[in-house]
Amino acid sequence: MTKPRTKPPPVRTCRVCRCTDAQGCRAGCYWSAADLCSTCHTVIDAVLEWYMLARAPSFVSLRHEIETEIAESAALLASSRSR
Ligand SMILES: [Zn+2]
Ligand SMILES: [Zn+2]
Repeated sequence: MTKPRTKPPPVRTCRVCRCTDAQGCRAGCYWSAADLCSTCHTVIDAVLEWYMLARAPSFVSLRHEIETEIAESAALLASSRSR
């Protein structure tokens, strides 16, 4: 007899980026923890290091910086695609 589960086992999904075994990250990834993929683990490690090393780490400033970078990358990608 198996123990009754409180809920059916869900598809293994990364808790950060929602990738699954069937639909992994673009560059491919592996499970770093039960519900965390290697792509996201890499970023968390990097952010953790930043948090430990920076003089006065601000998540608001970091997020603004990242969003600016993403917007610029998206604009570059869009302009290169339209050509
Ligand atoms: Zn992930
Ligand atoms: Zn992934």
